[in-house]
Amino acid sequence: MYLKVILLLFPSFIDGVKPCGKKMEGKLVIISAPSGAGKTTIVNHLLRRNLGLEFSISATTRAPRGKEKNGKEYYFISAEDFREKIRNEEFAEWQEVYSGQFYGTLKSEIERIWAGKKHVIFDVDAKGGINLKAIFGNKAISIFIMPPSVRELEKRLLSRATDDQSKIRIRIEKAVEEMKMAADFDHIVINDNLEMAQNEVYEMVKSFVNS
Ligand code: ADP
Ligand code: 5GP
Repeated sequence: MYLKVILLLFPSFIDGVKPCGKKMEGKLVIISAPSGAGKTTIVNHLLRRNLGLEFSISATTRAPRGKEKNGKEYYFISAEDFREKIRNEEFAEWQEVYSGQFYGTLKSEIERIWAGKKHVIFDVDAKGGINLKAIFGNKAISIFIMPPSVRELEKRLLSRATDDQSKIRIRIEKAVEEMKMAADFDHIVINDNLEMAQNEVYEMVKSFVNS
């Protein structure tokens, strides 16, 4: 039912991305996790392996952090541009991930990656991950990276040192909500030992893209 509603809302998008004729039948790898659980580390590990993956660069209204560059980690755009893209139906999905901060997957990004004959890998929040899986069904694998505990998550966010105390508190509150959604993913991987988690995700993704 939910999928039908989405297909009704996005018919032209589904036509556009449906592989036809000479278009590559690209797949999609969805990685979600609470902030600090290790998804950037795991996604970067996957990108370094020879799996034919390319990262889907999301659009966001948040400001760049540290060494982040426009067009690398994100397309950094204004709230006004973001609203216009929503009106023009340019997003496959979008969320107000944190209050006043919007993040979204552009349909053009998926088209761009498939046109380059690569599979798309997403790093999106849990709601975004569930929505993308509902749109793409069996063409997508969805993996939830679970931290060993909320306390450990807090420790990692503190040692990453990219956010101040109040931002860390907001991220922890959201993490608790996101962890409740883990059961809606195809797979859950606990990131306690990083090397083991990376290998587990690698094996899952390898067998999915080669299937
Ligand atoms: P996310 O993208 O989910 O916010 P990151 O990949 O940035 O998370 O990881 C958050 C921090 O935790 C980083 O400093 C990273 O090096 C560290 N980290 C990731 N996985 C582990 C792990 N298994 N054990 C300890 N530290 C980890
Ligand atoms: P950060 O600000 O730490 O880069 O990301 C905050 C959160 O936004 C992360 O959980 C990340 O996965 C999520 N996110 C990034 N891009 C998107 C997107 O396009 N859609 C959705 N729904 N979430 C996203």
